[in-house]
Amino acid sequence: MKNLVVLSGAGVSAESGIKTFRDSDGLWENYPVEEVASIEGWYRNPALMLQFYNERRRQIALAEPNLAHKKIAALESYFNTTVVTQNIDNLHERAGSKNIIHLHGEVTKVRPENCHADEEGVIDIGYRDINIGDCDKNGVQLRPHIVWFGEEVPMMSAAIQAVEQADILLVIGSSLAVYPAAGLVHYTRKDCKIFLIDPKPIHIAGLNFTQIQEVASVGMEKFIEILRKNENF
Ligand code: NAD
Repeated sequence: MKNLVVLSGAGVSAESGIKTFRDSDGLWENYPVEEVASIEGWYRNPALMLQFYNERRRQIALAEPNLAHKKIAALESYFNTTVVTQNIDNLHERAGSKNIIHLHGEVTKVRPENCHADEEGVIDIGYRDINIGDCDKNGVQLRPHIVWFGEEVPMMSAAIQAVEQADILLVIGSSLAVYPAAGLVHYTRKDCKIFLIDPKPIHIAGLNFTQIQEVASVGMEKFIEILRKNENF
């Protein structure tokens, strides 16, 4: 089987009712991004950060995977598939994808605030709220297991490794504006076929790719059609 890497951004979840922030003038669900997605924001106002991610958890509990998530999961029958997602939601796993790298963390997980994305300290809380005073067994305040602006992206090396081995790379619903994730496309082999699904035109200097200018669900149908025509499965 060929190696397929799907690099997804917030746009893949838009049809599930979860807003992207690049489409809302830098606001994420009406909050300024720097207030709710930076490490400085956590030091400044942890209560606001916890409230924001409590809201995101409740929203995601009510959302359903859309056709695009489901079609991506179905490709696992035909390709060695790795989903590298910038999303903090769990809609890829709920659609059935098995091999997922969460570059920016997961909203259903928390860790003690003194723990550096170390898996041992990570706790799966499902859709529960976390508030000031909720601590681990050592009495350390819990924080969302999210990679914020100003923090390292520990899953980058695993993502780079997957992209380097890709025969096909599909970028879906990502403006490719958030680094280092956006730089992943440059780790592809010369013979890797690159496709991009996004309703807005995307330009990437020095990269050869085919854009399917559609929303995620329609784009996935067209992408699968192209794969079929080229006898990829
Ligand atoms: P992004 O930079 O990946 O941009 C979103 C892209 O999706 C844009 O190019 C937009 O044109 C496209 N898009 C909009 N509607 C679409 C649709 N229906 N189908 C396909 N594409 C569509 O993402 P962002 O919103 O700037 O967010 C960046 C970071 O913010 C993420 O990496 C994540 O950490 C966090 N975030 C996560 C979620 C989530 O988990 N669902 C949602 C918002 C933000």
